[in-house]
Amino acid sequence: MTLIVQFQGRAALWPVWQTPLEAAFAEAGIDAALQFDADPATVDVIVYSPHQREIEDFAAYPRCRLVQSLWAGVERIVTNRTLTQPLCRMVDPGLTQGMVEYVAGHVLRAHLGIDAILAAQTGTWAPVIPPLAADRPVAVLGLGALGTACGQALAGLGFRVLGWSRTPKTVAGIDCHHGPEGLRAVLQEAQIVVTLLPATPDTETTLNAETLGWLPHGATLINPGRGTLIDDAALLAALDTGQIAQATLDVFRTEPLPPEHPYWAHPRVTVTPHIAADTRPGTASRVVVENIRRMLANEPLLHRVNRDAGY
Ligand code: NAP
Repeated sequence: MTLIVQFQGRAALWPVWQTPLEAAFAEAGIDAALQFDADPATVDVIVYSPHQREIEDFAAYPRCRLVQSLWAGVERIVTNRTLTQPLCRMVDPGLTQGMVEYVAGHVLRAHLGIDAILAAQTGTWAPVIPPLAADRPVAVLGLGALGTACGQALAGLGFRVLGWSRTPKTVAGIDCHHGPEGLRAVLQEAQIVVTLLPATPDTETTLNAETLGWLPHGATLINPGRGTLIDDAALLAALDTGQIAQATLDVFRTEPLPPEHPYWAHPRVTVTPHIAADTRPGTASRVVVENIRRMLANEPLLHRVNRDAGY
């Protein structure tokens, strides 16, 4: 029987995803009808990108056996009490590679002092030699799909990488810490901090006045995780005192970041418009279809969201 798959993303995404998803179904030998506007009563699977096309009541999809998010972050979906079907988040090799490139680029920018070099091109010959990466501790908060890949890439460049997660981990190349007590150990050493935590009640303002104060003076913050991880007022205060020398922020509590927000005009804040790592249809379509294959075969689903933990 043909599987009915609802593409629940905004209209502009449909032409971008339709061809790679159909190709992935064909490659996997799955008889699926991918539809943009399926009758909810007939839908077996929802492929979900909630921006501008949110589902409020999943009870309208009584046959649905899987909701596969096209996003890595599922905070907008996981709190919906009508969603009782298995929910899986996106872990896509293309998205991961994009995040590795974003993080490596901004860590190297801070490490090499590129902003200061550009600002100091005034005709004065004043060499400042940066330390080697081995002498530049970098903290990666969150050791999931993205934090682990970024941490290992940074370790591959020679950085001393400290990682932090909720549960204990062993990751090659990363000095792993966990739990509330592990955060201080990681932050008090880190000259550069990269936040790759999900938005959950527990991670709300992980970086606040107290924890920003644990960092060495003049640290750099790079946040491609979620805006809720940061207490914005505390960060602005830490930038003013020089406790944080530089912040590169990709994600915000309100997106798009409102024009009047102080981050835009701050001389030591770089705003990027949530572009750190997009889901790439070419690679992600195969991930979607592999999970549908698993669903059909009654095999364990990949990247299933833990509703209690919220990610
Ligand atoms: P993931 O695989 O679910 O990993 C999340 C990590 O955070 C895990 O290591 C987890 O610990 C840790 N964590 C969760 N709650 C914690 C807590 N209370 N204390 C300490 N550690 C905690 O997620 P991912 O795929 O790496 O993605 C991470 C986030 O990146 C996403 O949730 C999303 O918000 C963001 N993101 C941003 C973009 C962008 O373009 N800016 C793109 C994609 C994703 P355990 O390992 O112990 O579970």
